[in-house]
Amino acid sequence: MSTLDTRKKMEIEFKKGKISLAVDKSVYKRFSERDMIFARVMWDETYSGYRRAINEKEGTKVGMKGYSHHGYAAMNAAWMVHDTFHQAFSWENPKSSVGSLTQSTTKLGKYESADLKKNSEIAKRIGTVFGACDVGITELDPDHPYVYTHNRQNEPVNFPEGIKYAIVMLIQMDYQALKTSPALPSSITTGNGYSRMAFAVASMADFLRNLGYQAIPAGNDTGLSVPLAVQAGLGQFGRNGLLINPKYGQAVRICKVYTDLPLEVDKPINFGVTQFCKVCKKCAKYCPSQSILYDKNPTWESPWKSCSNNDGALKWYVNVESCYEFWVKNSTDCSNCIRVCPFTKPPGLAHDIARFFIKYLPMLDPLWLRLDNFMAYFPWWRYGKKEEAEKFWKGKKYLGK
Ligand code: SF4
Ligand code: SF4
Repeated sequence: MSTLDTRKKMEIEFKKGKISLAVDKSVYKRFSERDMIFARVMWDETYSGYRRAINEKEGTKVGMKGYSHHGYAAMNAAWMVHDTFHQAFSWENPKSSVGSLTQSTTKLGKYESADLKKNSEIAKRIGTVFGACDVGITELDPDHPYVYTHNRQNEPVNFPEGIKYAIVMLIQMDYQALKTSPALPSSITTGNGYSRMAFAVASMADFLRNLGYQAIPAGNDTGLSVPLAVQAGLGQFGRNGLLINPKYGQAVRICKVYTDLPLEVDKPINFGVTQFCKVCKKCAKYCPSQSILYDKNPTWESPWKSCSNNDGALKWYVNVESCYEFWVKNSTDCSNCIRVCPFTKPPGLAHDIARFFIKYLPMLDPLWLRLDNFMAYFPWWRYGKKEEAEKFWKGKKYLGK
């Protein structure tokens, strides 16, 4: 079968929801973390963002609307655990004096269980206890397409024998904070998500090691989180390249722990995201750097010739170079595309009804999009509107609690 025929077949299966990820393996190659935009700013002298730190303008923006001194203080503090607890992401057990992937610090011996269903239930339950709002499990493809070839230091990433599964965990972000994007409160919930991610993966890895199994905890490192989360049944790809979860939309961060504990795996899900993205395009419209495509259909190649885009996967490619440059200009990260996504809006009866029809009757998608836009016309409702940072500071709840 020719490449064109193979792609056509995959496009049809992808559209019907028969496959969750369409990848042309004659083009797609494993990606190096060194080509990821945050790594490239450290070494790629040809990129205009080279050596430009996101916070380089921090001092000059204090006092501007949405950019207070206490906002910057909180945003930086939110990253504290993630940035200092590096052992959370260590391949070796930080509690072990010898250092090994499996060494338990308990005296329990190996947990022997051939009951895959029970093993998965236990892993998922403890994942939620350790802070995940949703947990999914996938078996790694033998050729590891979503595992990086190299890490940021350009060292090869090679899993030890036996590593077979990824336990993927979602860490919720706060919708009220995201509503202020690109102002600072949205960055506070981003940083806080990363710090809670460190807690979740470190604890999950220790749990698996205490059962006598290998565990490799990872945040954004080691492998591509979004395709792994899609394979683990936690959601679908959105137009802006991020995961959309049926309950939390894009208000999640993703982390994962690779292991050899025998597990029952989850199936990918399809709740109508790709079809809805074709008509929606809100993330593209509200992206301040215009880094998201407006094309109706996803494509196999990126229109930007950038090593940070990896051709061969059917999706809407994002211009991560201009996205990063907006972050520098903004002096903090941005979540506009997350904020405006209709799936990110919190669950409720009206949204549940809309999501039901988006899943089962995609021909009505333009209607739901119009309704989503219409509700934003009532100024007192503030439905889907950007919020002022002050409103976040006066709030009493976080993560809907
Ligand atoms: S994070 Fe902001 S700048 Fe980047 S793609 Fe999303 S909306 Fe655009
Ligand atoms: S904003 Fe619309 S187009 Fe963008 S990811 Fe969300 S649903 Fe898709």
